Amino acid sequence: MAPGRDEAELEDLGGGLYAYVQGDGSWGLSNAGLVSDGEEALLIDTLYDLPRTQRMLDAMARATPAARHIDTVVNTHANGDHCYGNELVSDARIIASTASAEEMSAITPDLMATMLKGAEDMGDAGQFLRKAFGSFEFEGITLTPPTETFDARLDLTIGDHAVELIEVGPAHTRGDVIIHVPASRAIFTGDILFIEGTPIMWEGPVGNWIDACEKIAALEPEVIVPGHGPLTDVRGALGVRDYLVYVRDEARKRFDAGLSAREAALDIRLGDYSAWLDSERIAVNVVTLYREFGDPSPPPGPLEIFELMALLDR
Ligand SMILES: [Zn+2]
Repeated sequence: MAPGRDEAELEDLGGGLYAYVQGDGSWGLSNAGLVSDGEEALLIDTLYDLPRTQRMLDAMARATPAARHIDTVVNTHANGDHCYGNELVSDARIIASTASAEEMSAITPDLMATMLKGAEDMGDAGQFLRKAFGSFEFEGITLTPPTETFDARLDLTIGDHAVELIEVGPAHTRGDVIIHVPASRAIFTGDILFIEGTPIMWEGPVGNWIDACEKIAALEPEVIVPGHGPLTDVRGALGVRDYLVYVRDEARKRFDAGLSAREAALDIRLGDYSAWLDSERIAVNVVTLYREFGDPSPPPGPLEIFELMALLDR
């Protein structure tokens, strides 16, 4: 049976590596990771709110003494479910790509709290927002930005572990980063991979995201910690690639045939992909692809996109 929304598990990957996997990986239920050796600990992502982040930090501290003090944090990208908990590790060195650091202030916890308060008056879109985000506590969070940024690549040493931060964005967001631990043959991908859930492309271009999946596969990892959903391996990376290729091609056909982004999102048959969680994200993916295709008509606004997702979610 699929885990419930509030279930989370710290999985020991061996060699000082851990994965924190939340629920079924649906909206806001992100994964995080820990790379530890000796006294040193690198936390990969914080969570969407402070109670969830605190529970995770407690579980990690129980699992390994190194995690009692987090020295370094890397945020894989700017979405709040990967960085709103930074406040609880604010004495650590917090690293992100330059593009992610710049994007982090785009959607603040205050904005999320205000939006949820107003959701009641927002019809179907509001109902959808409440269902997706209503279980998180956005009020009272102090957005805590990275203390350090990099571009393209940054190599760290955590105890004896060599750790590579590799920027593969823009793709899911503007500055996505994956974390490779070669000696453990492990990769933490952030939201470059959603497993058993539907990838959501806020930014693109889609080609960059497809390349990122192939880059992950080429590193021949034995274990992959995705941004959402259960642990996977190379097959998971190639599955996301195949989804993106399929959606890109289906959207392109409809763009060329003169359909609007909305019409295309409603028309594309997802086949086996409809079994993935949150398949309504096709709406965002098509809107982003249409922008990439050079759609001259004005793109739908956020409210319109959430209305469309609510419609597709029925
Ligand atoms: Zn996420």
